[in-house]
Amino acid sequence: MEETTTKQDRLIDTGVNRGPELAYLVAVESDDQDTMWSAEDSLTELGILAHTAGAKVAGTMIQRLPHPDGSTYVGKGRAQELSALEKQLGLDLIIFDDELSPTQQRHLEKMLDARIVDRTALILDIFAQHARTREGRLQVELAQLEYRLPRLTGHGTELSRQAGGARSGGSGIGGGAGGAIGVRGPGETRLEIDRRRIRSRISSLKEDIEDVRTQRQLHRQQRAAQAIPVVAIVGYTNAGKSTLFNTLTEADVPAENKLFATLDPVTRHIVLPGNQEVLVTDTVGFIQKLPTKLIAAFRATLEEVIDADLLLEVVDTSHENAIEQNETVNEILGELEANDKPRVTALNKTDLLADPNELDVSLYPNAIPISALQKKGLDTLLEKISTVLAKSMVAVQILLPFNKGDLVELFHRRGYVDSEQHTAEGTLIVGRIPQALRGYYIPYSRALHR
Ligand code: GDP
Ligand code: MG
Repeated sequence: MEETTTKQDRLIDTGVNRGPELAYLVAVESDDQDTMWSAEDSLTELGILAHTAGAKVAGTMIQRLPHPDGSTYVGKGRAQELSALEKQLGLDLIIFDDELSPTQQRHLEKMLDARIVDRTALILDIFAQHARTREGRLQVELAQLEYRLPRLTGHGTELSRQAGGARSGGSGIGGGAGGAIGVRGPGETRLEIDRRRIRSRISSLKEDIEDVRTQRQLHRQQRAAQAIPVVAIVGYTNAGKSTLFNTLTEADVPAENKLFATLDPVTRHIVLPGNQEVLVTDTVGFIQKLPTKLIAAFRATLEEVIDADLLLEVVDTSHENAIEQNETVNEILGELEANDKPRVTALNKTDLLADPNELDVSLYPNAIPISALQKKGLDTLLEKISTVLAKSMVAVQILLPFNKGDLVELFHRRGYVDSEQHTAEGTLIVGRIPQALRGYYIPYSRALHR
């Protein structure tokens, strides 16, 4: 019986057939962690992720250790406690707040009956749930397989459990292995076959993603040639990026109080107050402990961020971890080498603040308080975007004859007009224009008087 992927790829039974699955959350607070996040806050977030994936949280455990235990992550004693708890509470899943090593995963699977899930697998599961476009699906599948490959073990039981289990251990490949009989080579173990299948799928996915990437690159080059600046909306997951995107572009990207509702980048055209045109892109949200490999898997998507002319960071000011979230966003932008791009910060959800005056605007670059939901502060935000974009353009003073009305119009659409005067000889514009369009205006330039 050949199974198709996607559905079987879900890690968690969302309770269509019975109630939602019961999960227990486990974190280790250690000296190894180089983060502003407390274990408690990180675990709270893990709970929201678990909820987003469709599970119900039955309880949490935090263990303080100098370092996470090499074989059981929480330490043997605590792992035994979990074993007692899973029987007592009837747990389906135990979710760990860090990525488990293959060794830790194996040991825990031996000690516990509930399924062992780590933060990475959970995030991947949510990604799989939300991928809509072909590109998004390719990227999620690649990330899932790369995660799974080192975790396959010689124990045939694990695979057959995944392949045949009513509840699906979460492995599309495990499921697919059921159809592997025809391709089984002489003397190959089941494990070798599975590894080979995964590796070949990984390389074909990489090729497909490369094609998508080339296409995107072409699009970006076309856009660059037209000198339409691209504004990429970035920020922590659930900060309100899609809500802001929808409000600005009158689009209808789903905005949900769930993490990672947007996986595929969407781009729309908008006009700024001074008539300047820009393209705005909504992107997947960032989250702490997002493994670097996962970021790499989403590189094609994140290239929109890398290539943007301006980053519009959305911060959920009502969140108690707003500062930690911003720190995480900066770290990830750093990994993408996008940290020194021009940036405007939308301090969002000010409608939820008891006292909006307490906002420390100085903490963020070019910060403007807004409420995307109540459509407040948006004009000021757009003006800020316009002036920050203008800084990366070239200052010019030009005198365009009356028969060059098209160039006047182009200037308004692509450039930033400081002043415009209609004189006897033509239109005198002082302003800024993208470097790519400079050439059109050189014949009409006048010396700049500052
Ligand atoms: P994203 O993950 O950053 O794209 O966030 P979404 O746009 O999906 O929004 C996440 C949640 O925050 C949704 O429930 C939105 O309705 C809510 N939200 C977004 N902006 C605001 C705002 O300005 N005020 C309030 N109160 N809620 C907001
Ligand atoms: Mg979104």
